[in-house]
Amino acid sequence: MSTTGYAFTREVKTYLEADVVVIGGGPAGTAAAIAAARGGKKVALLEKSAQLGGMGTLANVSVFMPVGNVTGIYREIIADMLAEYLPPDHDESIAPQYSPFLLRQYLNEKMKKENVDVFFHCEFVGSVVEGRRMKAAIVSTREGLRAFEAGCFIDCTGDARVAIDAGVPYHAGREADGLTQPMTLMFTMQDTGKPVRQILPEGCYEYNEVSDLPQGRRLYWERNGDGSLLVNMSRVKGNGAKIEDVNHAETEALRQVFSIANYLQRTGFETYAISHIAPQTGVRETNQIEGLYTLTEADVVGGARFPDVVAQTNYEIDIHSPDAQKTTDERKVDGYDIPYRCMVPAGLDNVLVAGRAISATHVAMSSMRVQATCYALGQAAGAAVALTPAGTPLKDAPMAELHAELERQGVRLYRQGASAV
Ligand SMILES: Cc1cc2nc3c(=O)[nH]c(=O)nc-3n(C[C@H](O)[C@H](O)[C@H](O)COP(=O)(O)OP(=O)(O)OC[C@H]3O[C@@H](n4cnc5c(N)ncnc54)[C@H](O)[C@@H]3O)c2cc1C
Repeated sequence: MSTTGYAFTREVKTYLEADVVVIGGGPAGTAAAIAAARGGKKVALLEKSAQLGGMGTLANVSVFMPVGNVTGIYREIIADMLAEYLPPDHDESIAPQYSPFLLRQYLNEKMKKENVDVFFHCEFVGSVVEGRRMKAAIVSTREGLRAFEAGCFIDCTGDARVAIDAGVPYHAGREADGLTQPMTLMFTMQDTGKPVRQILPEGCYEYNEVSDLPQGRRLYWERNGDGSLLVNMSRVKGNGAKIEDVNHAETEALRQVFSIANYLQRTGFETYAISHIAPQTGVRETNQIEGLYTLTEADVVGGARFPDVVAQTNYEIDIHSPDAQKTTDERKVDGYDIPYRCMVPAGLDNVLVAGRAISATHVAMSSMRVQATCYALGQAAGAAVALTPAGTPLKDAPMAELHAELERQGVRLYRQGASAV
């Protein structure tokens, strides 16, 4: 690794001025953009890939894990795309499997209806910060570097890429050793109705027992009832925000995928062929910002309630072994609040971080990270930036108004503000 560096100075043309720039088009980013636009703001949503949906589409994580509620924008997605799963009340759990291709199409159309301008193939590379305010995002586009200016920015990159670049302190992984949850390359198999030719390409492994498998278990879903099998069985140690780790993961996870498919074809799925491999390995955990409040394991286990609640979940503590062991730490939780302050980075007045990179410990993050909760956090962040008066620090977003606006947008929060922490 070289120890030299370069001072890199460029004059970058401004491409667009918006009220709100949202960076990252995953669950948090799409919901943030919609909610800000509903608040009357001109919103630009920047996404480095060609599709919206984040891990759900890009990494084919096409199951919504149960969180104890179906509310807000997440509820709209279920009502529009998966109506057969829609529970009558907001405080019920569902765990539907969905088509990542249909979600991708659905989100494109929804953004048009919601007046969100989406910019694909636009990767945030740097921030322009003056004092406590971010002025512009420097973005790598198909036309080169361009600046996107805004009054507020919402970092939904999953890695807190924007906040970190703007100087926000952060941590990664377990408190003791910094190790994060491992990565997984998701794939789908399809029942062809007849025995398939089993192949084991060069570089792959022969798995014979469940204990040989990377996770030491068989984990797949057949909920669509169309002969498809969604497989979550690979596991590669590393932090997906690190160059070397992700390089290793993209080759090792693919080896595992072909090896697992071959194993499944010998152990119950003799008529199934690989029909889709996600274009990128899924990343569970990378960086967490240091925010005004850090969600902890005690909050998750103890059912903490906060006056500035913006999302609620009862999804379990779910930690795939960061040590590359074949274990998964799964512990049921009864339900808790996530406070707005977890999205507010100290030191910046006009930036929020929504989605899996909020201020949380490793254990707490393992529970709040699933898609429905990230949609909820994004929606709250978008609503907050829209209603906070220009020039007022986002930490001072008016909470009663925020709760009223979320309710207007179809969000239902339960036992709101039951206790103060
Ligand atoms: C293998 C795996 C299995 C999982 N299983 C489930 C499950 O079964 N059910 C469930 O509900 N959840 C599951 N999860 C968790 C869930 O998918 C994620 O935690 C969730 O998608 C996080 O949402 P997010 O919006 O914070 O970030 P992400 O989904 O990671 O989206 C971030 C978006 O930002 C974009 N981006 C990143 N950097 C930049 C940049 N510099 N410039 C522009 N854009 C950028 C990315 O391309 C991406 O679109 C799983 C995750 C993984 C990896």
